Amino acid sequence: MNDETDTERHRVSVAVWDVPSPTRASQFEIHVGVKCAGGCNLGGQQIEIRDAAGTALCHAVLGSTPRPGTEALYETKLRLLAPDELDVFPRTVHFIGGGMECEHIAAAGAFTFRTLQLPECMITVKVNPAGDGITLDNIDVRIGAYTAQVDATGIACIAVPRGKFELSVLSAEIEPVSVPVSVTEDAMVEVQTIAKAVADEDAEREWM
Ligand SMILES: [Zn+2]
Repeated sequence: MNDETDTERHRVSVAVWDVPSPTRASQFEIHVGVKCAGGCNLGGQQIEIRDAAGTALCHAVLGSTPRPGTEALYETKLRLLAPDELDVFPRTVHFIGGGMECEHIAAAGAFTFRTLQLPECMITVKVNPAGDGITLDNIDVRIGAYTAQVDATGIACIAVPRGKFELSVLSAEIEPVSVPVSVTEDAMVEVQTIAKAVADEDAEREWM
């Protein structure tokens, strides 16, 4: 680890994950992890979230023990409030630190989130897969920016605002489906899917 560090200064990196698309004016959670290249214990150290203008929005304290499976990645969850408007918002995460023996040079982490309109209607999507051995595992349904996974019966319920959207059904095993939907009230939509065409390498060789 010594080649990662200056003689007295340690580099600190900040990562952000699990950032959702919250509805406007709602609370949402993000996950933040901070790591010192020198492997310092960062438990209990403070981080700060700032908006694009550099204004501090909130603070949090890193957990006291490293993330399981890592040596020195300290993490925490933060609860943030989405602005009451529809837009994409950039935020930065800063390691504040302090009271440590070595000096730390910290790069800020950055993330963006898009706020969504409050849902008004419930759309029930029923996925009917055709093809042998096609399971209903890990099938994502998207209506605009609103997403859900189908349950064991092939159904996904997604709350969306009124409007025109693209409805997509996606998974590793099926050909992607995309259809326009116009949402005016609660509705049920059935989507037929077919198995993804598997490239047959032997057949390709024959034709080349
Ligand atoms: Zn350090």
